[in-house]
Amino acid sequence: MGGNMNMTVKTIAVKLPRVLFESTDCSLAEAGKPGLPDDCKLYCAEDDKLDLKEILGIVDQASRLGVEEIIITDENFSVHPWFFDILAHIRINGLRAGFCTFGMGITREVAQRLFTDGVNVILMHQDLFPKKTTGSGDNCFCVDKEILKDQDAYRENNTSSSGKPSGEPCSVVGKGFYNICDIVNIFMSAGYPDDNAKLFLESIISREHLTGIPGFWRWARDNKLVPLMTLPVPGLFVGADSDKKHCRLPEPDDVRALFEELSGIDAVKYKINWKPLPPIPGPEIPSYLRCCTVTDTGDIYPRKRLPISLGNIRQKPLGVILKESEVLMNLAGENGKIKIKGPCRRCDDADQCCGSRALAYALTGDYMGSDPFCWKNQDKIDQIVHLPASVDAFIPQKRPIQVITKLIAVKERYAEIESVIPHDTIFLKKDGTLEEVILFEMMAQAAAAMNGFEGFDTGESPHQGVLLGGKNIQILDKIYPEVPMTIQVTKKAKLGGFGVMHGIVLCGDRPVAEGNFKVFREDEIV
Ligand code: SF4
Repeated sequence: MGGNMNMTVKTIAVKLPRVLFESTDCSLAEAGKPGLPDDCKLYCAEDDKLDLKEILGIVDQASRLGVEEIIITDENFSVHPWFFDILAHIRINGLRAGFCTFGMGITREVAQRLFTDGVNVILMHQDLFPKKTTGSGDNCFCVDKEILKDQDAYRENNTSSSGKPSGEPCSVVGKGFYNICDIVNIFMSAGYPDDNAKLFLESIISREHLTGIPGFWRWARDNKLVPLMTLPVPGLFVGADSDKKHCRLPEPDDVRALFEELSGIDAVKYKINWKPLPPIPGPEIPSYLRCCTVTDTGDIYPRKRLPISLGNIRQKPLGVILKESEVLMNLAGENGKIKIKGPCRRCDDADQCCGSRALAYALTGDYMGSDPFCWKNQDKIDQIVHLPASVDAFIPQKRPIQVITKLIAVKERYAEIESVIPHDTIFLKKDGTLEEVILFEMMAQAAAAMNGFEGFDTGESPHQGVLLGGKNIQILDKIYPEVPMTIQVTKKAKLGGFGVMHGIVLCGDRPVAEGNFKVFREDEIV
């Protein structure tokens, strides 16, 4: 139940909301989409999304915390109308600015302004643009579905400056990579890249793109651009996009062969030496991939591709969220070394690699677990805990005293546990219901399972916790054997080794018990 008293966050990415424009026929569309009439006026961002004032406030807070760089992430079909206001605010605060973009709507003039301001640009590969939602209903915009189709439709209707459809595979860059030369040329003609204004090219190592990557890599290096290749994270793209072929993971051995090939290209042709290790190819992991991200609804993620909410800036100041976050503290590790569980901890390369936290979380539910996609772990998958998992290894209690069954999920100071009490339990009453006392015991064992899982297979002795008592525990309903229950436990506050936790037991959606309890952990005395 620690805190980040000494941790410093240097870079924060802020995702801009989608902006819709209203046409004279009252249909709404995204800026920059083909077919959008000239007389459109700015409508607004969706209700739950951050507004400009909130985003400027995040910049102010970040500046006071000592953050050095803000990366503006804009996935709109044109440069966001707030972009230059935010950029100016970042500069007034004396911070560096980065701009993560699909490159749509970038003109020579825009590129020149970015270069003059020393903005690092991360150009995301356009072919990976996630499909846009076209929902309707009370909480959705009434979007003109004929206009708002996915990126394929955009490419079909759009032509590059060379007159060639921009959806054509680019023979210069590599198979599977659509023509990104035009947009890169705009940035290069504005002066990119140089030491003060770098140009990163981000793309995904998917099955579809695999054979084209060495060509893409050489082309980027020849043009002094920084290639940034990441593995797709299952489930990160919403809805149908997660199934699209451009998001499919290749085989681990194919990834190893690719990393070795790229390492060889760099060593021989560019005199850049690095060892091929997960999670990305290249000599270092750029801060952009390791920085906290504020989503367009104000949630803070510890990494761009690690969707665990640490808190929301509408509910708590940024500094408090970062300081309280255990996820962030665990990912920072001690002296830069993080304690990964399982086979990664025993790996020969553990002093310079911790695998992909995003893939570990997506594939196992444990952001501190071993990377199950690493080629070196393919014969050790059974040594990696995948959630949901039996709690037997995480708590000392055994049946019939054990009253919880499975650990379902672990997030920021929060865990979800399942309980199914068998018919032959010693807690069965004559009327067929269960003793109410086990509801509090479920909360206590759930808290123990959360702590036990945190320390499991880390090479350290198990965390010893002591339950000091409950407060305001309410029993709300009867419970029965063989009926699945869910226990949600949240760490609410801590002082030294003492902590206050909140627990709720649910039967379906119905709460059957709720309350707070105090715990003590010797290893957390500060
Ligand atoms: S086993 Fe883990 S530590 Fe070793 S190379 Fe693979 S991801 Fe890195």
